[in-house]
Amino acid sequence: MISQVLGFLVRGLPVIKEGDEIASLIESLFELQDGDVLCIASTVVAKSEGRFRDLMDYEPSARAKDIAEALGKDPRFVQAVLDESDEVLLDKPFLLVATKFGHIGINAGIDQSNVGGDRILLLPENPMMSADRIRRKLSKRCAVIVTDSCGRPFRCGVTGVAVGWSGIGPIRDWRGEKDIHGRALEITLEAVVDEIAGMANMLMGEAGDGTPVAVVRGLKYPAVDGTLFMPKDGDIVRKRLNETPK
Ligand code: GDP
Ligand code: MN
Repeated sequence: MISQVLGFLVRGLPVIKEGDEIASLIESLFELQDGDVLCIASTVVAKSEGRFRDLMDYEPSARAKDIAEALGKDPRFVQAVLDESDEVLLDKPFLLVATKFGHIGINAGIDQSNVGGDRILLLPENPMMSADRIRRKLSKRCAVIVTDSCGRPFRCGVTGVAVGWSGIGPIRDWRGEKDIHGRALEITLEAVVDEIAGMANMLMGEAGDGTPVAVVRGLKYPAVDGTLFMPKDGDIVRKRLNETPK
């Protein structure tokens, strides 16, 4: 059997403002089908949720000033990062944090590109809930992934990562499947939402393309929820997601 996976860009979206209804904007421009995976850049989700901030709004603490000085950054920007963070994992050579919603990323994913003016843009407060809210507004049964371009440890270059998702199991569990020699896999969990986010992010582009939404069609995926974030109790997969896509 030949299976085909297609990727589409949704063209014609405006510059997103606070209050914009992303789901209906997308559906006015693109005909979704049941089973599509709708990938949306966190930038536009955050814009629609009014996550713009002005650096002037931040009064840097002594800690923010220390970190900023060592990194050569604006202490108000560092304060914004600290405000979005649960924990600072590294404060040099870059500021790597765990955000309040569990994502680990440099500068808490705070962006100044594609934002406009001197403002900064925070990530959505809870991208899992954002994904869920958008998915529930769609007229078709789709999965939604909120993506962000992220750096990777010990490797150059950014790649799209899923910071929120809904209607799709984030992990394909290969444990117990046999390799080509019949040996059972013991630990492989595949982060499928990140893989899809990587492909979608590549289609979207990083600069002035104006295409923050990509649709992936033809993938088989389990329509169950679960987490990818490292939970504090140390159990990576809270729900065992062993519904294997065919
Ligand atoms: P991030 O990966 O979530 O930080 O998003 P990027 O800033 O890399 O933007 C991803 C894509 O969305 C690029 O093609 C941008 O040009 C586009 N983009 C960002 N904001 C907007 C917007 O408000 N409207 C439109 N139409 N495109 C946008
Ligand atoms: Mn990007």
